[in-house]
Amino acid sequence: MYCYTVEKAMSEKITDNFRLHEFRCKDGTDVPEELMDNVRLLCENLQVLRDHIQKPIRVISGYRSPKYNRRIGGARRSQHMTAKAADIKVSGMSPKEVKDVIVDLIKQGKMHPGGIGLYTTFTHYDVRGRNARWYGKGIKDDRP
Ligand SMILES: [Zn+2]
Repeated sequence: MYCYTVEKAMSEKITDNFRLHEFRCKDGTDVPEELMDNVRLLCENLQVLRDHIQKPIRVISGYRSPKYNRRIGGARRSQHMTAKAADIKVSGMSPKEVKDVIVDLIKQGKMHPGGIGLYTTFTHYDVRGRNARWYGKGIKDDRP
């Protein structure tokens, strides 16, 4: 019975195109109950992006348990540990194109201000509430 409810909760839709299990930590840790509001806010904003680009978004990294984050050498105060961040990929769009759309949507007040990291194979977005920008290894700063 317990397992059934957990499984049911994990397959639950948070928004039209995002389900909770997509944000589960790669080490198998579920998003903790106390971080559910964060993951909901994140999904609502990813849904705005999804509706705008009209293409599926693949979450390659969502929530990270503190232990997992240490193991992969993530930032000490990574937004992934609070379930406020997602590394995403969109087929048919480059990480830079995805980043540019997010920047525009934030400027228009349609997406929550937050962190945007551009990497060679994915785009990081988080809902920390203030703007932060950075570039992963191998990416040239493209700010004007
Ligand atoms: Zn990230």
